[in-house]
Amino acid sequence: MTESTSIDRSTIWPYEEGEPGPFFYARYSHPTGVEAERALGALEGGRALLFPSGAAAATAALLGLARPGQTVAVAHGAYYGTALLVRELEAWGLRLLEFDQTGPPPEDADLVWLEAPSNPFLTFPDLEAASAHPGTVLVDATASTPVLVRPLEHGADLVLHSATKYLGGHHDLLLGALVCRYEEHYARLLALRGRTGAVASPDAAWLLLRSLRTLALRVERQSQTALELARRLDAHPAVARVRYPGLGPDPRAARYMQGGFGGLLSFDVEGDARKVETSLRVIRNATSLGGVTSTLEARRRWEGERVPAGLLRLSVGLEDVEELWSDLEQALAAL
Ligand SMILES: *Cc1c(COP(=O)(O)O)cnc(C)c1O
Repeated sequence: MTESTSIDRSTIWPYEEGEPGPFFYARYSHPTGVEAERALGALEGGRALLFPSGAAAATAALLGLARPGQTVAVAHGAYYGTALLVRELEAWGLRLLEFDQTGPPPEDADLVWLEAPSNPFLTFPDLEAASAHPGTVLVDATASTPVLVRPLEHGADLVLHSATKYLGGHHDLLLGALVCRYEEHYARLLALRGRTGAVASPDAAWLLLRSLRTLALRVERQSQTALELARRLDAHPAVARVRYPGLGPDPRAARYMQGGFGGLLSFDVEGDARKVETSLRVIRNATSLGGVTSTLEARRRWEGERVPAGLLRLSVGLEDVEELWSDLEQALAAL
């Protein structure tokens, strides 16, 4: 027993008696990756596969699970990169449809793509309605993590994570994951990964193992702080609207998310959102989410017209709640 797993950076492992063993070439699999996949799979209740980023995991899901001519129904207001990616693959015959994930998915969808909760609109999918749909159901649970929701237990077929966010948690690793309920999906995606070469590095897998040890504590604390900040922002005169699953009655989120509502929220200000961004002193004016340090940014710069001009997305880190609130108050005073 060692306290920390060692990283094996080998790309080859010698055959045994002329036969390849469980590991022979790192593009197919490597020991650190397999160990991290085991740990994540146990948390989600399925079989996990790591990819070099969330976007690479999404690409593998689309190429591995959908066929030319098929329809991918993506939740409205979900991670903006997902719709862009499906649109990119329209040239290979996929069809994109966007729908309201709080209701049942469109009947003609072959692959249903939900987000629990959506980034940055914080809507929560109706997992029961989706699981009654005949199509393959994938839930991007980046923002909730298995600490709060385990979508496979609610009928989803696959879970996707940008492990760059909460699972990694420290703004120091780029990683993605798919967790499969069915062996058939797992085998298909494993073969595709080996062929396309979209393999996560041993170093990234090792960092994930390190991070999973504190995942539950981080998410619990981030949820508590985010709920408190969401309530205070909701009462602030400069804030027109707050989106957070734990604010107001959202029976769907409450039913599925146990033990908190996560560290991600968004709110709208009237006036120049950039003034809030540039006045921050503690919270980083940066993109991404899920790290131990808080980040905030106006999403208009990336998402264009689909988000309100004054929408600010806040990812709550592990700083003291009062320190974060003082920072937000003084930044909002710049409006
Ligand atoms: C960031 C993000 C992704 C993409 O993940 P990368 O690791 O940046 O490639 C996918 N889904 C959601 C919800 C995200 O926040």
